[in-house]
Amino acid sequence: MMPPNAAFGLGPIDVHVHLSLNGQSSAGGWFRRRWVMRPFLAAAAHEIGLRGGFGGPDFNRRYLDRLLGWLDESSLSAAVLLAYDWVRDSSGCPRKDLSDLYVSNDAVIAVARQHSKFLAGVSIHPARPDAFEELERCADQGAALLKLLPCVQNVDCNENRYKGFWERLAELHLPLLAHTGGEFCVRSVCNDLKSPDCLRLPLECGVTVIAAHCGTRALPWDGDHFRTFLEMRERYPNLYGDLSPLSHITHLASLERLREDPKRLLHGTDYPVVSAVFPSLLKGWISRAELHRLNAIGNPLEKKIQLTRAQGFPECVFTDLWPLLPDKVVRSFQHPQVS
Ligand SMILES: [Zn+2]
Repeated sequence: MMPPNAAFGLGPIDVHVHLSLNGQSSAGGWFRRRWVMRPFLAAAAHEIGLRGGFGGPDFNRRYLDRLLGWLDESSLSAAVLLAYDWVRDSSGCPRKDLSDLYVSNDAVIAVARQHSKFLAGVSIHPARPDAFEELERCADQGAALLKLLPCVQNVDCNENRYKGFWERLAELHLPLLAHTGGEFCVRSVCNDLKSPDCLRLPLECGVTVIAAHCGTRALPWDGDHFRTFLEMRERYPNLYGDLSPLSHITHLASLERLREDPKRLLHGTDYPVVSAVFPSLLKGWISRAELHRLNAIGNPLEKKIQLTRAQGFPECVFTDLWPLLPDKVVRSFQHPQVS
C-alpha cells in the first residue's frame, strides 16, 4: 500500500546525508584527514564512486556532483543535507584543534537553494553567543532541521541554560537530529554524551528529537545505548530513531529488535558511510539471490533503500519524516515557485 505522504508527491526521504568540503577551495567547510582514517576514506571514495578521493582543490565540486548524480538517479524525493558546527567550549568558542570536520550552515542552505531535492539540515551549538540569531536566520532561510553531535561537538543538551533554545526550536517545528551511540569517523570529546538520555531536556521542551543510529554502537567495544533508546521511545512520543547506517555486523542484534518493533523509525544512509548487505544474509533476512541483486546496485543511496525494504521494514520509514518538518519547508518543496 502507498504510504499517505506519497500521495502528495512526498516520496522517500533520506534524513541523514553529509556534505563534505575540504577547505582547499572555500571557507564554507573544512576537514582534517587524520592518518588513521585514510584507508577508510579511500574505501569510502571507491564505494561511492568518487574519482580522485577526498583531496585536491576540486574536491568540493566532485563530491557534490557525485552525490547529486546518485540522488537524481535514486527513488528518493529528497535528502536532508547536513551542516556540521565546530567543536565548541562551554562559552561557545570554536575549538578547531578538537574539530575534525566543519560544514557551515550557509553551505548547505546554498546547495538546497540550487537543488530542489536537498533540504538544509543546519548545525548550531546552543552555547554560541549568537545561537538564537543563527537559529532564526536559518529558519528564515528554509532550514528543515537542526543537526548536532553532542559527544563530538561538546553539547550537553540537558543543561538548563539551553532550555530557551529548545523551546524556540519546538516553536519553529524544527526537529533535532542528534547523534547517539558510537562514533567512528570523527573524535568524540565527551563519551558521556552518547546516550539518548542526554536528549531529555529537548524532548521535555516539546522538540521532535531523532536519535541518529538509535543509540547503537559503531565498534564492538563501544558502549551500547540501544536499550536506553528503546526505553525512551516508549516514554517520549516525540522521540524517533534513524536507521543510518545500520546494516553492519555490529548492528545486527539492534536491527533485529527494531525489525520486530519498527515504530517511529526514519530512513537514512549517513552518506558517504556505506551500507553492508552481507550481514543481512547471515541473519537469514535476505536470500542469496537478494544479496546479489542488492550488491549489484551501484547507487549507494538507492542500495540502502532497497536493503531496508528487503530487511522487512515497513514503507512508512521512508516517508514519516515529512509531517515532522516545518510546514513551510514541505510547502515550498511541493511548490518550489511559492517559496
Ligand atoms: Zn552522520
